[in-house]
Amino acid sequence: MGRLFLLVVLAVVAIWLVRRALVHASRAKQEGAAPEAGAPSTQGDLVKCAHCGTHLPFAEARAVGDRVYCSEEHARLGPGRG
Ligand SMILES: [Zn+2]
Repeated sequence: MGRLFLLVVLAVVAIWLVRRALVHASRAKQEGAAPEAGAPSTQGDLVKCAHCGTHLPFAEARAVGDRVYCSEEHARLGPGRG
């Protein structure tokens, strides 16, 4: 009777350990498959003002020729010490 009880306890513990291991494995797989940190590709590329060197989103930059500037004034002033 005591031996049967011990077998049941061992079975429960074994099942619990297997389930815990499976949960950990699936979580590790999800974290490995979807790295969300450090992926700024959704907001658009950051560009550097050719005059002052300020970084800003490309959508907010003024493009003049092949250069981009942070403001209308810097676009007028042209490339600086940048
Ligand atoms: Zn600027």
